[in-house]
Amino acid sequence: MKKYQVGIIGATGMVGQRLITLLHNHPWFDIALLAASRSSAGKTYEEAVRGRWMMKAPLPETVQAMMVCDAAEAETIAKAVDFIFCAVSLPKDETRAMEEGFARLGIPVVSNNSACRLVDDVPMIIPEINAEHAQMIKAQQQRLGTDRGFIVVKPNCSIQSYVPALHALMEFHPIALNVCTYQAVSGAGRTLANWPEMLGNVIPYIGGEEEKSEQEPSKVWGQLSADKDAVIGSHFPRISAQCLRVPVEDGHLAAVSVAFENPPTRAEILERWTHFHTLPQALKLPSAPDPFLIYLEEDNRPQPTLDAEAGHGMAITIGRLREDPLMDWRFVCLSHNTLRGAAGGSVLTAELLCAQGYITHRDKGENT
Ligand code: NAP
Repeated sequence: MKKYQVGIIGATGMVGQRLITLLHNHPWFDIALLAASRSSAGKTYEEAVRGRWMMKAPLPETVQAMMVCDAAEAETIAKAVDFIFCAVSLPKDETRAMEEGFARLGIPVVSNNSACRLVDDVPMIIPEINAEHAQMIKAQQQRLGTDRGFIVVKPNCSIQSYVPALHALMEFHPIALNVCTYQAVSGAGRTLANWPEMLGNVIPYIGGEEEKSEQEPSKVWGQLSADKDAVIGSHFPRISAQCLRVPVEDGHLAAVSVAFENPPTRAEILERWTHFHTLPQALKLPSAPDPFLIYLEEDNRPQPTLDAEAGHGMAITIGRLREDPLMDWRFVCLSHNTLRGAAGGSVLTAELLCAQGYITHRDKGENT
C-alpha cells in the first residue's frame, strides 16, 4: 500500500509527541513533516524537544534529525504532505485561522484543538459513534472554496470515556447524566515532574472543561441536517459535569450517574457493553481497539495506572456498575487522555477518513 505523507503541526507538544510515537511505525502513514512555533523552527526535532520529551518510549531515531518547520509557512507545508494532524496551543481565533488556511490550500486537517469543534459544518468525530458526520465535509469544502481540504476534529478528551459507554445504551434513552471527571496532568500538556504543585493535591477547576463536557456530546449524538451541512444537536441526555485535576500522569476517570426513560437491567447493560462492535472494528482500522469497551468485575477497577493503556490506550474500561439511589445506574469509566482522548483518537479518525475516501493521496502538482 502506498503510504500517506503526513505532517504534524504542534509536533513538539504533549499531543504532538504522542502522535510521533504512534506514527513512526504506522502501516498507512509516514511522517513527512514536523512543524511548531517559530521558536522551534530551524532546529532538528531532537534539539527542539531536548529536555522536554515527555513520552515513556524513547524518541524514535527516524525523527531525531528531521528539521522542524515554522507552522506559519503553510504553503511550503502544503506541498509536502497529503494531510496534517494539528495540535497547537494558540488562542482559538488563531487556531481556527491556521486550520482553515491549511484546508483552503487543499490539505485535510485532523485536529485535536477545540477552536472549530462547534463550527456548524465541521464534523466532530468519535469513529465508533458518529462516522456518518463526515458527510458534512462536502458542505464545508464549498464554504472554504476547496475540493480537497477540510477540517475534522475530535471532541474533548474528558468526554471520551462516558460518551462511548452511554452510546452502547442509547436504545434505553438516557435522559439525565451526572458526571464528575478526575483528569490527569498530561491533559494540560504537563507531567507530575514539571507540575510539582499537583503532587498530593486536587485542583477543582479546569478552564472551559465543564462547558465542553456538557455541550460536545450533544453534537456527537446529533443528527445530520437534511442538507448535510450541520448537525442538529441531541437534546438528551441533559448533562451536569464537574471536572477536577488530580495528581495522575495519564488517564481521565469519570464517575457517572444516569437516568433512563426505559431503565435497562444490569444484564442488558453488561450485554450491550460486551457486544459493542462498530465500524472501525468492522473495517479493521489499524488503531481500532477490539474490544472497544471492557467491563472489569473487580470493585477497585478501573484505575489509571492499571487500565489506561488497555487496548494500546484506545479502549474504554468500565467498572463498578451498580444501582443509583437518585438516578437509575452509576458506574466508573476510564480512557487514556492523550491516546484515545487526543493523538490516538485523531489517528483512528484519519484512518477512517482514508478508508472512506475523504483523505486521498495528493497527486504531484496538486496544492501548488
Ligand atoms: P502543548 O504541550 O503546550 O504543545 C503545544 C504545541 O503548540 C507545541 O508544539 C508548540 O510549539 C505549538 N505552538 C505554540 N504556538 C504555536 C504557533 N504560533 N504556531 C505553531 N505551533 C505553535 O499542548 P498539548 O497538550 O499538546 O495540546 C495541544 C492541543 O491539543 C491543544 O489545543 C489542546 O487543547 C489539545 N488537546 C490536548 C490534550 C492533552 O491530553 N494534552 C487532549 C485533547 C486535546 P513550540 O514547542 O515550538 O512552542
